[in-house]
Amino acid sequence: MVPGVRMARAGGNTSIMSVITETASFRGDDEVCLVEASLACSVCLSGDVEWSLRSEEWDAGVDCRCESCGHVRTVWLTGEQALRLSLDRRPADPV
Ligand SMILES: [Zn+2]
Repeated sequence: MVPGVRMARAGGNTSIMSVITETASFRGDDEVCLVEASLACSVCLSGDVEWSLRSEEWDAGVDCRCESCGHVRTVWLTGEQALRLSLDRRPADPV
């Protein structure tokens, strides 16, 4: 061991670092049914999904919550997809 040089740490278990990144698969000019199918729940496949658009400086995504099983996930979008969803926004449910 060289004095003043720290030993490299042993590698950790990187399997716990798996991050599931989901991206939407519709195009900006697709039919509404294809857009909704893209946002359908990835666990139970229900189309009854409540979503809200999130837009950050470099990333756009949509936070989805399944009304059937409660699964929550974020689907990442291209700029074109985010624009489409911002135009398609369903009227807000009365609170
Ligand atoms: Zn579900």
